[in-house]
Amino acid sequence: MLLTPGDTVEMEIDWDNRFDNMQRHAGEHILSGAVYRLFGGANRGFHMGEDAITIDIDFRCEDSVRNPDGSPRYERLTWEMAMAAEQEANRVIMSDAPIRTDYFSTREEAEKMPLRKKLRIDRDISVVTIGDPDNPADCCACCGTHPSSAGQIGILKIYRIEPNKGMSRIFFECGGRALRHYRDQFNTLYDIGTALSSGIGELPAKFAAYEEKNRETLETLHRLKRRLTEAETEELRRVMKPRLVRHYTDLTVDDLFQIAKRISPDCPDRIALVADPACTVVLVSDGRPGTECGACVKELASGFGARGGGKKESARAIFPDRASLDRFLNAFTSEE
Ligand SMILES: [Zn+2]
Repeated sequence: MLLTPGDTVEMEIDWDNRFDNMQRHAGEHILSGAVYRLFGGANRGFHMGEDAITIDIDFRCEDSVRNPDGSPRYERLTWEMAMAAEQEANRVIMSDAPIRTDYFSTREEAEKMPLRKKLRIDRDISVVTIGDPDNPADCCACCGTHPSSAGQIGILKIYRIEPNKGMSRIFFECGGRALRHYRDQFNTLYDIGTALSSGIGELPAKFAAYEEKNRETLETLHRLKRRLTEAETEELRRVMKPRLVRHYTDLTVDDLFQIAKRISPDCPDRIALVADPACTVVLVSDGRPGTECGACVKELASGFGARGGGKKESARAIFPDRASLDRFLNAFTSEE
């Protein structure tokens, strides 16, 4: 339907969507104002997406808080600074500071307001002020939609900061979205707590105890693995013969390379240590001409679909399946 000037149309605001936008957008004003007033950081970028709302804070601006020698006091936003800004933003929200919009026809008039950002337009300027105009929580030119008071934002929560092109990017949420974010994170913690039979408050201690136990278990495992590989090295020396093949189900390829390092000088010809679950053969020899392991992978094992390679004294061949591995071992043991 084509519209012509003077037509009347009926429109309806999607209020849930509008209010969600208003909460997030006004929250962005207040957080930007807090970072600016506390640290002199300027908001140089703003993104309000479905997944996240972010602002990029730059301390390389003229209003940045300075050291006595004139250098900027802050290079980037730390987590502590972000938490201080979050606290200040929520103070403004909880004080239910009024949010008003004033309209100015010229730049000169608008510039009488305590603006956070320089104006980029000359006429028909709307200026949004949050709180007392003599000491506002935020004041800047804006044509967005805002609630009539800060209390309607409900809450503002920062949940991540990261460096971005010399600036600091703040990820946060406001209002209904902040509540959903809190609920999701709480549910995750609650589920982890239930799995660990722990209250959420005890989770850090519980996690530290788990890490310690995990470290002890790994140490024990390494000690036992070392004994196992040492014993297997001795056994290999006892049964050593050219083209020997040994199968392993409980040692990894890395374990077999540890054995290979020890047994290599005692190998008169190539031998094959097979890590069965990984369909991988570790070849070992003393490396003399004609017994090179890397060459065997290239010249023989690759013919059975193996990938891999290595040095003269040891090499690995990874087979696509058990049947290829078995065919290779047949060829390996019958090779002259
Ligand atoms: Zn605005």
